[in-house]
Amino acid sequence: MSQVLTSENIGACADFRHLSTIAGIAIDLRYATPHNFVGRDLYSPFDCAWLHRDAAAALEQVVAWLALRRPGCTALILDAVRPQRVQEQLWAALEGTGLQMYLAEPVRGSIHSFGMALDITLLDERGNELDMGTGFDDLTERSQPGMEQELLVRGEITQMQIGHRQLLRDAMAQAGFAGISSEWWHYDFGDREQVRRGYKRVM
Ligand SMILES: [Zn+2]
Repeated sequence: MSQVLTSENIGACADFRHLSTIAGIAIDLRYATPHNFVGRDLYSPFDCAWLHRDAAAALEQVVAWLALRRPGCTALILDAVRPQRVQEQLWAALEGTGLQMYLAEPVRGSIHSFGMALDITLLDERGNELDMGTGFDDLTERSQPGMEQELLVRGEITQMQIGHRQLLRDAMAQAGFAGISSEWWHYDFGDREQVRRGYKRVM
C-alpha cells in the first residue's frame, strides 16, 4: 500500500530533493504561474520544485549528457511534483472538453504526484525554448509524438521540430526516462505500477 505525504511536508522527507540542488537546469513551473490551461496559479503557497531522489539523480544524468553532446543546450523543467489535489483540479478543468485523455485519472493517480515524472523542454544557448512544434500543454494532436510521422506528411510539423523532440528523447532515454505517445514534454521515471504501489504520493 502506498503512503501519502502532504505538500507541506515534502521538505522533511528524505525521499525528495529540491530542484535547486540540481546544477545546470532552468526551472519555470507553469502551474505555479497563471501561464497554464487553467489560467491561475495552482501551487501557491506550496513549493512544488521537488522530485523524488531517484528521478532527481536521473535528471542529473540528463544534464551531464547534454553538457557533453549538446553544450549550450539547457533542460527547462516545466513541472515536477504535482500534488494529487492539483491533479484533481486539472481533471475537473478538462471535464466535458474531450481532453481528459491528456491527464491521468485522479483515482489512478499521476506519476507526477509521486515526484517520478517530469514535464521538460530544452533551451538553446540564448535561453530560448527549442521549437517543438507546439508549446507546453497544447492539448492537440500536434503535441502527440505518436502522430509525428502523419503530421510530417500533412505538413503540420517540420523535420526540424521532430529533430528537437528527438534530441530531448535521446537525452531522457539514456538516463532511464520513458516518454508517452500523447505529450512530447512528459516523461516518467521507473515502472509506473511499481511507483503507484511503492512510492509516497504527495497530496
Ligand atoms: Zn507531465
